[in-house]
Amino acid sequence: MLKPKIGFIGIGIMGLPIAKNLLKAGYPLIVFDLNKEALTNLIKEGVKKGESCAHVAQNCDIIITMLPNSPDVQKVVLAEQGILEGVHQGQILIDMSSIAPLVSQSIAKELAKKGVEMLDAPVSGGQEKAQTGTLAIMVGGKEEIFAQCKPLLEVLGKPILVGAIGAGGITKLVNQAIVAVNIAVVAEALLLGKKAGVDPQKIFDAIKGGLAGSQCLTDKAPRMFSGNYDPGFRIKLHVKDLTNVLQTSQALHNAMPLTAQVMEMMQTLMAEGHTDIDHGGLTLFYEKINNLSLKSKDE
Ligand code: NAD
Repeated sequence: MLKPKIGFIGIGIMGLPIAKNLLKAGYPLIVFDLNKEALTNLIKEGVKKGESCAHVAQNCDIIITMLPNSPDVQKVVLAEQGILEGVHQGQILIDMSSIAPLVSQSIAKELAKKGVEMLDAPVSGGQEKAQTGTLAIMVGGKEEIFAQCKPLLEVLGKPILVGAIGAGGITKLVNQAIVAVNIAVVAEALLLGKKAGVDPQKIFDAIKGGLAGSQCLTDKAPRMFSGNYDPGFRIKLHVKDLTNVLQTSQALHNAMPLTAQVMEMMQTLMAEGHTDIDHGGLTLFYEKINNLSLKSKDE
């Protein structure tokens, strides 16, 4: 069966490997990004260059966006020369960016006026899982539209339909709150171990297979021991996600005291200039207030 033509907007850390995997799986691609250098590199691999978001929308069946935050997606869809200007009846927009769920819902309403369906499909797993096509993909939208897009999403990872439009974004907010608090307590507790005179590496080895074990512990503790906080997932993007978490929570009169506290720790790091380090760098906050480093001596 002929594969649908994909229009792809946003080929950054996540978008680039996702676009490459679609290309490898035989999907024809037309791409657009403000970053001309990224665009030129991808075009060398046989991808068509879009002249604008509207031009991409005019020349494809399914549009995928992978952009930083809500205002970027609003701009790409709704502004002059945006997707909305180029769409036609029967198209689908899959937004894989992590944005505010209310924004996804309002964009879906605008698209519906032109007969265009939308899925919100944020991901978890980072650059490495984007490269290996093993992302966790949390999808909101109509069942029949999800069924239509499932083969494509399965090229990228494991898609799960969690509810109507916006539910994908809500699921991602839940994910980001769990990850933030988990990383914080890993740093907090390992430092206690070190202060009490026990080697944190040995603590890690002893507990990682037990109930305290988690993907966050496994991925982030080794970074804490080496002191390497190259991103990864940048603190500033996690602050963006926690802003969306706390705004959504407040709008629902819901309380999230732990998440709010970790948000303040991340803001402290941002104020100190650590905007682009990996979110595992939350450790730096604890190291400063406890005047002790988690770094192994031989690192
Ligand atoms: P990124 O900044 O590397 O990439 C975003 C791309 O969008 C850039 O290439 C930028 O030039 C482009 N862009 C921005 N505005 C544009 C516009 N108006 N028109 C065209 N292109 C535009 O970001 P990323 O790390 O790839 O993250 C993308 C999304 O995925 C974010 O919402 C992020 O929270 C989420 N996410 C990231 C990770 C990660 O590990 N990096 C993991 C899971 C989810």
